[in-house]
Amino acid sequence: MILRNAYTGDITPEMAGKEVTLAGWVHETRDLGGIFFLVLRDRKGFAQVTLFRKTTDPVLLNTVKAVSRESVVQVKGLVKTEAKAPGGYEIVPIDVKVLAPAEVPLPMDPTGKVDCELDTRLDVRYIDIRRPCALAVFEIESAVLQSLRDHFYKNGLTETFTPKIVAAATEGGTDLFPISYFEREAFLNQSPQLYKQMLMAAGMDRVFEIGPIFRAEEHDTRRHLNEAISVDVEVSFADENDVMSLLEWAVAGAYSYVKENCSKQLKAIGLDLQVPKTPFRRVTYTEALELASGAGRKSMNWGDDLDTETERFLGEKIGEHYFLTEWPSSIKPYYTLPYSDHPEVCRGFDLMHPRMELASGAQRVHDYNLLVERIKSKGLQPAGFEFYLKAFRYGMPSHAGWGLGLSRLVMTMLNLDNIRDAVLFPRDRRRLVP
Ligand code: ATP
Ligand code: MG
Repeated sequence: MILRNAYTGDITPEMAGKEVTLAGWVHETRDLGGIFFLVLRDRKGFAQVTLFRKTTDPVLLNTVKAVSRESVVQVKGLVKTEAKAPGGYEIVPIDVKVLAPAEVPLPMDPTGKVDCELDTRLDVRYIDIRRPCALAVFEIESAVLQSLRDHFYKNGLTETFTPKIVAAATEGGTDLFPISYFEREAFLNQSPQLYKQMLMAAGMDRVFEIGPIFRAEEHDTRRHLNEAISVDVEVSFADENDVMSLLEWAVAGAYSYVKENCSKQLKAIGLDLQVPKTPFRRVTYTEALELASGAGRKSMNWGDDLDTETERFLGEKIGEHYFLTEWPSSIKPYYTLPYSDHPEVCRGFDLMHPRMELASGAQRVHDYNLLVERIKSKGLQPAGFEFYLKAFRYGMPSHAGWGLGLSRLVMTMLNLDNIRDAVLFPRDRRRLVP
């Protein structure tokens, strides 16, 4: 049996006289002598429960007075119009049950009145998320996912799952977590790249996957975690421009969807969300270098990867989402397709928010011999990729795709300072619990 028949946020003053049963947490209590208030909180808001010393049953009054903050309670009572209370109503209780008392003192203050360090909040994330502004982030993330999935389904993509326990690195790098897999060594997958490409050989044509990626990167930044959720897309018979337009519509569409459907959550965060204009500006790698060096910054050589400082400079200069295109083939992974007439440049791209990279994508190499050559040119052994390479020998269509960091999208959308605020239980070098 469900222990409530209404959420606080669903009750209106027009329901005056109706009996309702609410369930939630004791946000605060106030004793004004003749009147005693209990503010009940659930995920949709607050309700003021009002008890009068003269008229309320003394047993009930004593139960409520004894309850500690953040205890879980069930309140049955009558709705009464009260302009000064949250939502314009109060509840005159008939019965209050303490379902689960909370210990005193609390490890953090969930009312937000006392500032709290990120680390302390993450240690007791289940209390931290009781704060409406923290909860709002994850309700918005869910809306973003709904919007992305809608966009993908409308564009004819099939949702897929690929393995997270794998035998080889996507890019042959060292950023892998080894695990013991019976009598062999295996790894946690750093990206679904190789598998989504194999699905192109399978004729699945247009796929997406939303799932975890694992990176054993040691750096401690505000935008990297060791476990992240990646939104991956791969489309056959398409080039990089086709999938860039799919990506910019996905991102701008998520902003519009959140603006339209999450006004309460945006208010809790205190954000007036601006939907980015599409199409996003395209800036080639070479233009980016010119922009950066023209501003008197230390000049970089063509072929150098853009460092964080340059990215930040470009972001400030451009001031909106943009694509970085036409990268040197030498800095993009082996599966990125070089232009056939000037192979030093490739069809890779990054989607940038002024603060950071959001996604990377490309038209891929689909010719077997070229792929073998590209793998070798990166100093890798084709033999290690046999399971993947084989899929290119029996009819592989041209294809393109991208991977987008979900938490980075949410973090930049909501102007959060640290990616850890956009992840329920973040995993970094120091944090493995909760
Ligand atoms: P960066 O250069 O910012 O470290 P990357 O180029 O290594 O990112 P990709 O391999 O291109 O990352 O992964 C695609 C997307 O996945 C990135 O654009 C980013 O949004 C997200 N992503 C990658 N690594 C992480 C991470 N460690 N934590 C959170 N998100 C990540
Ligand atoms: Mg990248």
